[in-house]
Amino acid sequence: NPPPIDLKQYIREIPDFPKPGILFYDISSLLKHPDGWQLATARMTSVVCQWNPTLIAGIESRGFLTAAPLATRLGCGMLMLRKPGKLPGKTISHSYNLEYGSDSLHIQHDAITPNQRIVVVDDLLATGGTLQAAVTLLKKAGADVVGCAVMVELMALNGRKALETEVVSLLQYD
Ligand code: IMP
Repeated sequence: NPPPIDLKQYIREIPDFPKPGILFYDISSLLKHPDGWQLATARMTSVVCQWNPTLIAGIESRGFLTAAPLATRLGCGMLMLRKPGKLPGKTISHSYNLEYGSDSLHIQHDAITPNQRIVVVDDLLATGGTLQAAVTLLKKAGADVVGCAVMVELMALNGRKALETEVVSLLQYD
């Protein structure tokens, strides 16, 4: 058997982005690598399937890229958690604080229907503020959130402690 492929080789670490002193983990090179992205989504699918989800919710915008292949592989629908001003019609929203300023996530008012089992997906977990905001929004809309999943987890920031649901991550960094 060949050794398992280390997906970290496809994640670039870019210093001082978006601000001086921040080390940015860039999934662009994982995305554009056909085998790498195929393998990452396959591995993610095999951990997320334990929750038997029926709907995968992706956070704009790299969460969309991560969520869509999971939804098709698992035979689930997909829900977009969007930034302000993007969705037509009535929406439900939740505002949350960022390091500087605040942001909000939105879904259409009729996005949630009874008996859905939702998994929330993003590219990366840092402090957990974004993912928890998504969970809060979905719960506010009456949803059953069964778990969260990310490609990359920054362990030192302890984001999973900020989450009220279980979270799985594919690649962990200290
Ligand atoms: P948190 O809310 O602090 O957990 O930050 C996570 C959110 O910020 C996610 O939506 C990520 O896409 C984004 N983010 C934070 N740091 C990085 C990074 O190093 N690479 C890519 N995205 C990041």
